[in-house]
Amino acid sequence: MNIGIIGDGQLGWMTIFESRKLNFNFFVLGNNPEAPASRIADKFFYYEDVDQFLEIVDDFVFEFEHIPDFVFEKVQNHPNHKALEIKRSRISEKKFLQEKGYPVAKFSYAYGHNLKEKLKEFKLPVVVKAETLGYDGKGQYIIKNEYDLNPIFQNHSLNEGFIIEEFIDFESEVSTICVKDKKGNKKIYPISFNYHKEGILVYNYAPFMESREINEIVSSLIDDLEINGLLAVEFFMTKDKKPIINEFAPRPHNTGHYTMDASYCSQFENLIRSISNVPLGSTKSKTPAGMVNILGKSLNDFDIGKIMEIEGTELYWYGKTKKEKRKMGHINVVDSDINKLKAKIQTINQLIYQI
Ligand code: AMP
Repeated sequence: MNIGIIGDGQLGWMTIFESRKLNFNFFVLGNNPEAPASRIADKFFYYEDVDQFLEIVDDFVFEFEHIPDFVFEKVQNHPNHKALEIKRSRISEKKFLQEKGYPVAKFSYAYGHNLKEKLKEFKLPVVVKAETLGYDGKGQYIIKNEYDLNPIFQNHSLNEGFIIEEFIDFESEVSTICVKDKKGNKKIYPISFNYHKEGILVYNYAPFMESREINEIVSSLIDDLEINGLLAVEFFMTKDKKPIINEFAPRPHNTGHYTMDASYCSQFENLIRSISNVPLGSTKSKTPAGMVNILGKSLNDFDIGKIMEIEGTELYWYGKTKKEKRKMGHINVVDSDINKLKAKIQTINQLIYQI
């Protein structure tokens, strides 16, 4: 089977190398032949050559939602088009979730020119997020007073859309991933604990907790979004133990990287299984596991050797050009004892970030 990957980043890279053993061919559509997924694909296609790409592939998956509009139009018959379309705007994402009755933070939306006015509907602090192209903390601002709006007006135009969200004083952030195949079979990964700093995931581990409510939400949301493949959902857990959806992603997710070393079948392999005739693999964990992102550092910037000496660590290095806060690679780590696992994660964090 010829499988296409739309997007050329590390999520596509891991999808390919986790699924090569299934003897499929992989074709990547993106904008950089040197990007992680492009380098290990059987063939790379530029976005401009989308027609040739679609001719050669039997089916395809998305590893990135912010694809160019002309590519997006060409794939409108794909089952995941609906989820991607909703996801391309933070406003449509939140509206969809609210209309379907899922728990979300109180929100409103505005444009640059009426942002100040709309803020009056909220008690400060609030979180203001750019409607489009915002991920990994980009285009996201915590507003505690009027002066905090200044960077928004410096970085964005007055015509841009924004979502204004109440600030959730959460107890923890958690997530899970659901996979659904073409026949409608579904499986859900364990719930992970996620630690973010400045809007970017720094580390996570699983299993963290069990929640029937969360599992029911992801299972029904994957149906509502009509997804064939993966759906990752991030939640805030409030102090009274209520899950509130922060956002979803219709693709492999950073909080599921640990599944490569912990699960019977990783999120990446299950994504490929879900569009092929191979039955879905078990989403259960063989062992507690965690992941630490390597953000904005090269391998010479810290003592990687010391990390590799820790039992149960694996390095995944994406081979990208270094940029501030950029996801350059990650470390997966396992331990049968959850407390020892947490201690290992802390040591890895110290070794990378000196924190
Ligand atoms: P996002 O880009 O929407 O996933 O947000 C990235 C991170 O910013 C989240 O994982 C939280 O740590 C923080 N954050 C986003 N929205 C809120 C909110 N409404 N209240 C509190 N923290 C938030």
